[in-house]
Amino acid sequence: MIDHRRLGRELGLFTSDPLAGAGLPLWLPAGAAARHAVEEYVRDLERRSGHQHVLTPPLGKRELFELSGHLGYFADDMFPPMRLSADDEFVLRPALCPHHALVYRSRGRSWRDLPLRVAELGGMYRAERSGVLGGLSRVRAISLNDGHNFCSLEQVGEEVAEVLRLIREAHAALGVRPAGFRLSLRGPGEKYVGDDAQWARAEELLRAALDGMPYAEGPGEAAFYGPKIDIQVVDAAGRESTLSTVQLDFDKPERFDLSYVDSGGARRRPVMVHRSLVGSMERLFAYLIEVHEGAFPAWYAPVQVVVLPVDAGQDGAADGFAAAARAAGLRVEVDRAGSLGARVRDAARARVPYAAVVGPREAAAGRISLRLRDGRVLEPMPAAEALTLIGKVVGARAVGLLPPA
Ligand SMILES: [Zn+2]
Repeated sequence: MIDHRRLGRELGLFTSDPLAGAGLPLWLPAGAAARHAVEEYVRDLERRSGHQHVLTPPLGKRELFELSGHLGYFADDMFPPMRLSADDEFVLRPALCPHHALVYRSRGRSWRDLPLRVAELGGMYRAERSGVLGGLSRVRAISLNDGHNFCSLEQVGEEVAEVLRLIREAHAALGVRPAGFRLSLRGPGEKYVGDDAQWARAEELLRAALDGMPYAEGPGEAAFYGPKIDIQVVDAAGRESTLSTVQLDFDKPERFDLSYVDSGGARRRPVMVHRSLVGSMERLFAYLIEVHEGAFPAWYAPVQVVVLPVDAGQDGAADGFAAAARAAGLRVEVDRAGSLGARVRDAARARVPYAAVVGPREAAAGRISLRLRDGRVLEPMPAAEALTLIGKVVGARAVGLLPPA
């Protein structure tokens, strides 16, 4: 069976070490290269849709998380506070929302600032029991693609619809195949904050944003501060988990006393929309490794092109092609060790999308022969043409290996 832990080890994507601690994986160069490509893409997608990026620390004063309600509702999932002195205690944050609320109130806000879309790929921590940890799917240190849209109640429908659009766009580029949408609602019990009218309004807004899409309802699955839409994926073992999410929150704006001045000069409370387009980098990659069996789309493959000179006579031509590929922004390696057949097999085993073979005839003519990861071999072509072809696939963030028609 496909298992991201085994593939992650074979492909050199990540490792773990008992000395580092369970649930604290180490991303190796290949995994870091793929993750950086994905992070840059997500940041770019967010920037183009009007998000502003911030950077906030992964820990904060105990009082911050008392105010946010996390220590009241969520303490079991948090690491215990760290005491620096009698009146100075810090906690590793279990979420980014409290810091983003402080970003919002770092200055006065007017209706002209809204919607204010604050985004960050930031660290947070969960005190998961060691028995449930495994590879990248359950970890204690989480790098979350997170964001908070502060908006008026009238803007909520449009904000949620825009978030769902961005989620679909990101899924298409990454090759994510969502298993379904889930509307998580309040269940019986006392663990929820906020009044009934707010909950009813929030649920109504989310239902409206989902209009026309198939979705399932999950009573009792809402966050303690509001209902949410989760986008589920299924791993190779058939386990379902949440990858992307959009959640409404009427509670934190109250707790942090967030406000804006409306067009008539009155002070109003914004709504906070929590959203993650692709979830945490850890869970995302656990999923992507399995769904692609390690063969990532070319745009985030750790190595995109491996150059294979047939023998030492083509070393110069191979280096020249590699330099041109690097200058074009591609991640490229030259492999000279061993027989050509073995190197072609190694490249396929490492899931490198393109092997550029340079024999004596190709070198003399300034050409290269492209072999695709799936076994297809293209006619020898001028080196510049090969770079254009690969550049088109990468630039379009295509899932296939030939330029989209
Ligand atoms: Zn949040």
